[in-house]
Amino acid sequence: MKIFNTLSRRKEEFVPRIPGKVSMYVCGPTVYNLIHIGNARPMIVFDSFRRYLEYKGYEVNYVSNFTDVDDKIIKRANEEGKEAIEIAEKYIAECKKDMEGMNVKPATVHPRATQEINGMIDMISTLMNKGFAYEKNGTVYYRTRQFKEYGKLSHKNLDDLQSGLRELKVSGADEKEDNLDFVLWKPKKDNEPYWCSPWSCGRPGWHIECSVMSRKYLGEQIDIHAGGEDLVFPHHENEIAQSEAANGKEFAKYWMHNAFLNIDNKKMSKSLGNFLLVRDIAGKYDLQVLRFFMLGSHYRSPMNYSIDLMESAKNGLERITTAVTKLNSLVGAEGDIREDEAQIKADTDALVAKYEAALDDDFNTADGISAIFELVKLANTSVNEESSTALIAYVKDTIIRLSDVLGLIVEKKEELLDSEIEALIQERTDARKAKNFARADAIRDELLEKGIILEDTRAGVTWKRK
Ligand code: AMP
Ligand code: ZN
Repeated sequence: MKIFNTLSRRKEEFVPRIPGKVSMYVCGPTVYNLIHIGNARPMIVFDSFRRYLEYKGYEVNYVSNFTDVDDKIIKRANEEGKEAIEIAEKYIAECKKDMEGMNVKPATVHPRATQEINGMIDMISTLMNKGFAYEKNGTVYYRTRQFKEYGKLSHKNLDDLQSGLRELKVSGADEKEDNLDFVLWKPKKDNEPYWCSPWSCGRPGWHIECSVMSRKYLGEQIDIHAGGEDLVFPHHENEIAQSEAANGKEFAKYWMHNAFLNIDNKKMSKSLGNFLLVRDIAGKYDLQVLRFFMLGSHYRSPMNYSIDLMESAKNGLERITTAVTKLNSLVGAEGDIREDEAQIKADTDALVAKYEAALDDDFNTADGISAIFELVKLANTSVNEESSTALIAYVKDTIIRLSDVLGLIVEKKEELLDSEIEALIQERTDARKAKNFARADAIRDELLEKGIILEDTRAGVTWKRK
């Protein structure tokens, strides 16, 4: 499998540091508001990438943080007369709801910055001891020029950066040794949450959070670090400077960045006010449609949001679900795949290979989805009532499996009505009374398969949906 590495600006063969295992860190959102669909792009893309790694047999340790202390959170808290942590808790919970709606799997760990402050103080101390950081009036800065490889990710040259920043220096607003230096720790202002460190009571800078959380949960060296392309500079460049100076080792082997989701050809962002919340979309569409829309473009291509594209995503997804429903309704001829069906099976396998080749080529989900469409076409034209039950199942399971790798649920589970559930429970109670335990157990299993959990209590049988 090849992936495009921002570090080398080339597609490279993916070779994890430890065979069979992948460690991956994805920068998560700052939680001061509901997430917009631009924030959803990296969540969907990298969740799908993780699923594909798992499909290929890798064990993936996937870490994604929540930035739960930040100027914007504090501002929001002050506006609402609440504690910053209350705002953060609320939006972490809301973000998790949106992730669930989009079928984004929970990370192996979702660390929160405010729970990792000691680790940050430790790493900053190491940087001080090694001469990569200095303190001025309670603020700690990273000494950027000390890290000789600074700029290697964003391919920026220090002198160009310096001239870009010259004007700031004229203002004399700060006390840094060099304009390129960035904050690792800053003292508190009034009404701000704080932690006490050897330098001042205050809080960490944003970049140090990810260096520390990724080291704690994944180790000093990781396979993949990912996020939106706006994070390349300065966030990821600074993470490299911090981690590599502190640990004395290469930090991440591969850096993956998704392009922007735009609206009217401008980046969707909170600050521009041109955003649509995932919640807004959820009111109009099943969030599976949003997921399908996102994966319809290559992750490194900019996308432009429009209602027309959402409608065509909706139709595209329906083409797949309709084909699966049709395959489910076919009775077919009981038996194994027949000789006259061998070609259909071979064509199915060839499309699986085509799908895998697309995803192996820098995770080209757009071409992967085209392969699923070809499978749907094959199913619609070549699988019917005369087909063997084995072939029907083979084609159907293949479509479901390949869609599932992209987090797309294409098999509509029949929802039982409350009255149907209650009738089955009554039938089970009657069966038990008649000592027909086999039937009673069969009913319980049938309900469980449809997501209904029964509980036998003293007061009778209660039930709930999974
Ligand atoms: P933030 O909360 O702004 O730090 O963003 C969380 C994640 O969403 C980061 O990986 C960003 O790069 C990403 N992101 C924010 N806006 C967009 C956008 N319009 N398109 C794609 N990714 C975005
Ligand atoms: Zn980060």
